[in-house]
Amino acid sequence: ATSKVKHYSITLLPGDGIGPEVISVAKNALQLIGSLEAIEFSFKEMPVGGSALDLVGVPLPKETLSAAQESDAVLLGAIGGYKWDNNEKHLKPETGLLQLREGLKVFANLRPATVLPQLVDASTLKKEVAEGVDLMVVRELTGGIYFGKPRGFSTNENGEEIGYNTEVYAAYEIDRIARIAFETARKRRGKLCSVDKANVLEASMLWRRRVCEIATDYPDIELSHMYVDNAAMQLVRNPKQFDTIVTNNIFGDILSDEASMITGSIGMLPSASLGESGPGLFEPIHGSAPDIAGQDKANPLATVLSASMLLRYALGEEKAAKRIEDAVLDALNRGYRTGDIHSTGYTLVGCKEMGEEVLKSIDGKV
Ligand code: ATP
Ligand code: MG
Repeated sequence: ATSKVKHYSITLLPGDGIGPEVISVAKNALQLIGSLEAIEFSFKEMPVGGSALDLVGVPLPKETLSAAQESDAVLLGAIGGYKWDNNEKHLKPETGLLQLREGLKVFANLRPATVLPQLVDASTLKKEVAEGVDLMVVRELTGGIYFGKPRGFSTNENGEEIGYNTEVYAAYEIDRIARIAFETARKRRGKLCSVDKANVLEASMLWRRRVCEIATDYPDIELSHMYVDNAAMQLVRNPKQFDTIVTNNIFGDILSDEASMITGSIGMLPSASLGESGPGLFEPIHGSAPDIAGQDKANPLATVLSASMLLRYALGEEKAAKRIEDAVLDALNRGYRTGDIHSTGYTLVGCKEMGEEVLKSIDGKV
């Protein structure tokens, strides 16, 4: 029998700080899993962020955006660093990331928060509460109060200065994020909790109505609703009750940071940003960590797990995605730890060596 080799093009955007170090590890992992699963990747590496500013004067060069748009998926390292804070031209590396999200039309941000049994002590919560947490926050990324109009500064009738913003959601924006959330829940444990403030905010009332409407297409998913204040409380009281959470831009911003602290390991957390069609954007949730950049100290696992999300959510390569996840767990089980997750009794390794151990685990050569 002949097995067909599948081809995918991946744009790699190493970016700044530890970005290039962690991307190099994730690229090796993808290449190896490809060779084992009859998948061929063509990689195109492009500049973004501060390194693009230095190179060509803008944080998102046209060539970088078009390469990203033409590929099957985009894997990003990290953007920014003190070097570019307060630069004279007022061009910020971070602008490159916003432009990239806009250019790829990614409106759904998926952030898993998993407390791995190997790292349960890193959690900010008590062991009994943290153990077994495995949830996913699906955050709407391009609408809501961060973008709604009118916005600005003005004065009120007393001549007092005011600042104002508007929470706006159109039905289609809610429908499309809801569909991604239901699909996500279906790939997980089949439970979706929609978080809103429908007792107070009209935008939330519409949110709840639309989510209920879309739910009729997903009778296999168990849907619940929760007010955001209660959700914030429940996340630290009993996070195990959650499987998939869907919420708007601002609530998602806050709740996904809260959820990531439950795991306590910023160097372990991946993310995906998806649109309706076109390439998704995959990146670790951590920043460029300029304090440890270039020292081979970065934990590459968040980026390796982002590559796993890329395989699952952009390419539909579930088996390869699972193999990468299992390899990360295996390397941890064999006792390897980068500095950020190290404690006594474990083997302290750098970024490169952790990468090599993951490769051995993928290969089964341990
Ligand atoms: P940003 O504004 O881009 O989110 P930040 O300054 O808020 O960046 P990070 O760059 O993520 O935050 O760094 C926060 C801390 O976590 C730093 O001390 C950094 O060294 C550490 N850190 C971040 N990512 C990693 C990683 N992959 N491995 C080890 N340590 C990390
Ligand atoms: Mg930050």
